[in-house]
Amino acid sequence: MSEIIKELNILDQEETVSQKDATCGVKISENSQTGKTKKMYIESYGCQMNFSDSEIVTSIMTENGYDTTDDYKAADVIFLNTCSIREKAEDTVRKRLANFNALKKKRPDTMVGVLGCMAERLKSKLLEEEKIVDLVVGPDAYRDLPGLVGKVEDGQKAVNTILSKEETYADVTPVRLNSNGISAFISIMRGCDNMCSFCIVPFTRGRERSRDPKSIVAEAQDLFNKGYREVTLLGQNVDSYKWAEDFESNTKKEINKSDAENIVNFANLLELVAKVSPELRVRFSTSHPKDITDEVLHTMAKHENICNYIHLPAQSGNSRVLEMMNRTYDREWYINRVDAIRRIIGDECGISSDFITGFCTETEEEHQDTLSLMEYVQYDYSYMFFYSERPGTLAHKKYEDDIPLEVKKRRLEEVIAIQNRSSLERNKKSIGKTYKVLIDKVSKRDENQLSGRNSANKVIVFDKKDLKIGQYAYIKVTDCTQGTLIGEAVDA
Ligand code: SAM
Ligand code: SF4
Repeated sequence: MSEIIKELNILDQEETVSQKDATCGVKISENSQTGKTKKMYIESYGCQMNFSDSEIVTSIMTENGYDTTDDYKAADVIFLNTCSIREKAEDTVRKRLANFNALKKKRPDTMVGVLGCMAERLKSKLLEEEKIVDLVVGPDAYRDLPGLVGKVEDGQKAVNTILSKEETYADVTPVRLNSNGISAFISIMRGCDNMCSFCIVPFTRGRERSRDPKSIVAEAQDLFNKGYREVTLLGQNVDSYKWAEDFESNTKKEINKSDAENIVNFANLLELVAKVSPELRVRFSTSHPKDITDEVLHTMAKHENICNYIHLPAQSGNSRVLEMMNRTYDREWYINRVDAIRRIIGDECGISSDFITGFCTETEEEHQDTLSLMEYVQYDYSYMFFYSERPGTLAHKKYEDDIPLEVKKRRLEEVIAIQNRSSLERNKKSIGKTYKVLIDKVSKRDENQLSGRNSANKVIVFDKKDLKIGQYAYIKVTDCTQGTLIGEAVDA
């Protein structure tokens, strides 16, 4: 990757000269006063990638004459950036669409667009099912939004759900929404090639493709110059990030061993972003247990500003279930990766996971294996779900969704109970220790307290004194709850 690094160093210097979970809808907006006459309102559902995509959509729309508003009643265009991962996520969006009915009756010209995974899954069918929708746009078609909006203005309905093998929006500068000015997402890749049997993502987000590292480093540098102090590199499987400069296309198939010199892998990318500034924290999500390498772990250990926190979704602790899920690793492999994290980075590294309970044919014993894996790893926290069959997935085609809902839910409660215990145990271990904390907001409970996170992604609250948002501070932990550490500022 030598040539690429050289280019990146040049770019860094030039830039510095001009220095200066869970699925719920979140309204994100940037209320700028630009004098533009048309207004856009956007709401995002689902994963961080969707939130990041909404910033790309906003960039494209503001370039094309739209201002943003956080009041949907004042908007000319309403976008819902949607999620299809579980049935409940889609139900939430449909209910939200129903809320816009009254508005549409009063102001029929208000345009309603469904973006993202639900748009991709249902395509033009969505126009028939949800009459108030004017516009359906998949995740790879956002550049076409101005044209599609124009079509709706001309009285037609508009759909573009074409998936791309190349689109990474590398040249689009995201408009940061609901930003605290401290932390930002950077999308480093799109799509997924993994085909986990339960998952709709490969069908709604298309083939995996990596984004040019030069544009990623430039975005990180620009954010740092603007005062941001933390970036999170986003991808469905960041460990398979791969960029080969010499190829027209960067798909994995076209890369062979003799080209290793010209390849930027995820460990290389992490290092490049970490070098933007030691004052810029680097986080990433999501790691895939089958792909996370010791090289990545050593790179994390080498750079203090690469945060010691890994989201490593296990999904299940049983090897037969993992095989049916097509996760391509087994329980032993997963444990080996956790042991490698503890060995190379240490016990302080935060580890979180995703779990699905009641996947097709899962027995009580196999469910117990998930509980015992959780006991072994002692996760800091987890995102936990019961299995929701998604039409079109491999599991939907191959297996019967045969675990009764009440069993799925009971198993989920057991998983949650273990997680709650281990979150509290892990937090208790922090009492008496001092952490470097990036302060990112005023505490929700007490305006005289601030809140920030340590490297392991644990939230710590402490008295404000003369500290400010955006600063690093050293905080000694004095107490904890299951979800939060409580501490006080001390000298470094
Ligand atoms: N790429 C990430 C990975 O491989 O772990 C996960 C992405 S997915 C958006 C987030 C989580 O949703 C998954 O890890 C899984 O636990 C959960 N999920 C995906 N499909 C699901 C389904 N059909 N039912 C329940 N949970 C599901
Ligand atoms: Fe879905 Fe598996 Fe891809 Fe994650 S890695 S997005 S779970 S197919």
